[in-house]
Amino acid sequence: MDITFEHVTHVYGRKTPFEKLALDDVTIRIPSGSFTSIIGHTGSGKSTLVQHINGLLKPSEGKITVGNFVIHAHEKKKDFKELRKQVGFVFQYPEHQLFEETIIKDVCFGPMNFGISDAESTKRAEESLQLVGLPASFWHRSPFELSGGQMRRVAIAGVLAVRPQVIILDEPTAGLDPKGREEILSLFDDLHARLKLTIIMVTHNMSDAANYSDQVIVMDGGKLLLAGSPKHVFLQEDLLRKVGLDIPETMLFLNKVLDKAGSKDKIPAFTVDE
Ligand code: ADP
Repeated sequence: MDITFEHVTHVYGRKTPFEKLALDDVTIRIPSGSFTSIIGHTGSGKSTLVQHINGLLKPSEGKITVGNFVIHAHEKKKDFKELRKQVGFVFQYPEHQLFEETIIKDVCFGPMNFGISDAESTKRAEESLQLVGLPASFWHRSPFELSGGQMRRVAIAGVLAVRPQVIILDEPTAGLDPKGREEILSLFDDLHARLKLTIIMVTHNMSDAANYSDQVIVMDGGKLLLAGSPKHVFLQEDLLRKVGLDIPETMLFLNKVLDKAGSKDKIPAFTVDE
């Protein structure tokens, strides 16, 4: 399912001394099945943006569409349960939310919380643990006996067990060593390819954005600065540097090589047609 933002503005603490314009008239389309990275300096509005996709935050102005689900500003009450079944959110350090005495129980918690039967939740939990590469010999152990990377996989399995179509990742590799980072990113790369999931990843790592995504969104001061293929975005190095984003030399090299090869990969920004 496609996701669109049309003229979305978000103001925190409206009409208080702490009022802050965190999103400023953002219009963007995230196509179904894409792997989209969202980059930008700290405070540029990345987290605020993604929290609108499953209704954790409501827009102050504008409209968000996720498949058939529409969220307007100024709407009173809305039930986000269906939307949250479709859009899974992996928060930063998701392993901090593990709490059950066994891994399998923890993974079952997600689907059971959505009213799915015990038997079906167990089936989905087992399937998800297999997807994240945790063998059955682990399932009845305590999640707290695992390594940091394994605990993160369990937490991710809990989100997958609800069977969402869209997964939002907020800095999914934070705090992991290079091997753990590579494992988590390969996992999402694989899930994206195999399950045709739409993946939306907030990251400060330019190489990860370039290597794994097919669309990159650049935020600056609450505004959408750029959107398009990694090559389209990362070739605008002067603009990116101006907003405080450092482009690794190796990637520039890669882009230049691609450019020399005469690649026509200049996909225009995935903006909404108006
Ligand atoms: P990023 O994810 O790019 O670091 P955020 O979306 O977290 O940016 O923040 C955007 C702006 O909104 C920042 O100036 C931040 O200080 C402010 N902000 C974020 N969350 C809140 C909040 N709960 N209350 C008030 N201001 C907030």
